[in-house]
Amino acid sequence: MAETIFQKIIRKEISADIVYEDDEILAFKDIHPIAPVHMLIIPKKPIESIEKMENEDAFLVGKMVRVARDIARDLKISEKGYKLLIRVGEEGGQEIPHLHLHLLGGAKLSEDIHPV
Ligand code: AMP
Repeated sequence: MAETIFQKIIRKEISADIVYEDDEILAFKDIHPIAPVHMLIIPKKPIESIEKMENEDAFLVGKMVRVARDIARDLKISEKGYKLLIRVGEEGGQEIPHLHLHLLGGAKLSEDIHPV
């Protein structure tokens, strides 16, 4: 798997606005936010996408979701709600081949998903 910008962020070679870190997970602000709250939650393990996750990664992916929920709670957007988004592959719109979970919130967001 080719090195991605997210691996450079994990190694702190590229700066990011980090909001959570532990030994398995990093969360940081998206550089081009599409919502008032837009965070990316990534595993430090370089899993290319949900398509490439192994059964042994299931706990880690669940932990990504839990971290997103906890960040949403910390930012006080939980009660009004938010979206969690994982793009997969070309038609899913995934640009960076390192698994990432988008946490989107802070406003009512459109449901505008349609074929292009
Ligand atoms: P996706 O289209 O789901 O692959 O999302 C990739 C996301 O990574 C986009 O929302 C980008 O804005 C975001 N992104 C790319 N480079 C950086 C960076 N250096 N720091 C933070 N977010 C980034």
